[in-house]
Amino acid sequence: MSNRPYIVGNWKMHGTRAMLAEARAIDRAAERLLKVEVALAPPFTLIHATRKEANLIGIGAQDVHSADGGAHTGDISAAMVKDAGAGFTIVGHSERRANHGETNALVKEKAEAAIAAGMNVIVCVGETEEERDAGKAESAVADQLASSVPVGDGVAEKVTIAYEPVWAIGTGRTPTAEDVGAMHRHIREKLGSLYGEEGADVRILYGGSVKPDNAAELLTADDVGGALVGGASLTAESFLGIIMAAAEAHEDKS
Ligand code: PEP
Repeated sequence: MSNRPYIVGNWKMHGTRAMLAEARAIDRAAERLLKVEVALAPPFTLIHATRKEANLIGIGAQDVHSADGGAHTGDISAAMVKDAGAGFTIVGHSERRANHGETNALVKEKAEAAIAAGMNVIVCVGETEEERDAGKAESAVADQLASSVPVGDGVAEKVTIAYEPVWAIGTGRTPTAEDVGAMHRHIREKLGSLYGEEGADVRILYGGSVKPDNAAELLTADDVGGALVGGASLTAESFLGIIMAAAEAHEDKS
């Protein structure tokens, strides 16, 4: 596992070609911040153009279909996004689980399809507010990990986990750094059960209302290997604030 913080922007359903200027600015700045691994997941329609504009940062998709191809109107396969320039895909984002009824089993199939196509995957997990209030946050996340994370020979090195409490996404609310650290330690333990020793090298990102002003605190919580960032990745200015906080946090740790 690279010990550079991994900061990934998820543009969700935002962005037309006018937003390529933001991607260019992020890419230019990333050249000066090599201590941080930076990536963007734009909408499908911008993957190819973003790849052409940005030389240094990683480019990924926000989802893929679980099948290689076929009669799936409106869907996109892993091979297609790879061909467009994506090196990784997010799977199991809570918005897809909620808006499209994606189950753990489907998320796992999607992750397997992406890995089979030669891509890396970021598998999202996270509890709802009700689960946290009921003291079931860890068991909810453990269930998601057990059923939606792909396993097998050579798979661990292709996988990143994003811990994204559903109640923190797009709300401006975040868990405390202690709660984030506790959940990341729990996830690390479960990764040990899934992957054995290789589980120690899987990166675990935190996601949910990460902003330039709270990034340093969240990124220095226990076993946080980076961040998955939604709203604050939409402009170069705010995303770079997070990337710079990650660079500083990394320097303080090492
Ligand atoms: C996300 O969409 O993965 C996310 C974390 O969104 P936000 O940063 O806006 O909460």
